[in-house]
Amino acid sequence: MAGNTAILLAGGSGSRMRGTVKDKVLEPLSGLPVILHSYVSFEKSGCVDSAIFVCRDEPQMKSIKKALRRFCKDSKLEVRFAFGGKERSDSVLNGLKEIKDKSGLVFIHDGARPFVGVENIKKLAETAARDGSAILATRVSDTIKRIPKSAKSLSKCKLDDLDRSRLFAMQTPQVFIAKDILKAYRAVKRNKLKVTDDAAAAGLSGIKVSIVENLFPNIKITRPEDLTYAEYLMERLSK
Ligand code: C5P
Repeated sequence: MAGNTAILLAGGSGSRMRGTVKDKVLEPLSGLPVILHSYVSFEKSGCVDSAIFVCRDEPQMKSIKKALRRFCKDSKLEVRFAFGGKERSDSVLNGLKEIKDKSGLVFIHDGARPFVGVENIKKLAETAARDGSAILATRVSDTIKRIPKSAKSLSKCKLDDLDRSRLFAMQTPQVFIAKDILKAYRAVKRNKLKVTDDAAAAGLSGIKVSIVENLFPNIKITRPEDLTYAEYLMERLSK
């Protein structure tokens, strides 16, 4: 869609993979590097006309360029690159600065989530076109408890009970009007705030968000065992 961009984040250290793979976003999954699965889904959706890869360093950028030439040589998306920062929020901000048309929508997406489907991207685009934002999220099935702020350890805590019917686990893509979320992330940086997703940055600037409920697996490859599970899921979903 004219003027819309996908930001694909690859700037994390991947430390929770405990050195088992060189770079989780470049690991092959059903023959295609992890990060290119979502790139291909964005292109297939027809909802964006450009993509920005936010990279950890020069070697990773080179590897992504090489993978694009090899696996996506017929791609019509305009591709640009940015370097990440220390925190995810720094990486997102660097990606946002690269967007040409800031009046369009931006789909901010963790490159480590290869299962974002075309249908979900289309639903997010529809919702964000109507409401100015759309966040992919899933209802939690576990009961979630919160330890008190004052807790020094996990022993003998008085746990806070949370109402599960109102809890959602945030995923990506998270979609916004580019200029609004850029302004929100500039405020996060200026005020040295800590956010772990884009909805949190938006919320701090008073932007209301719309949830798009995801009923499909959309795991973030974080630990070594996630790659094994992702391989299994890919195989099952392709049947
Ligand atoms: O650390 P976390 O699991 O929240 O990372 C989610 C996504 O954000 C990953 O795709 C990771 O590569 C990216 N990230 C980034 N820059 C950072 C930290 C994380 O681009 N400094």
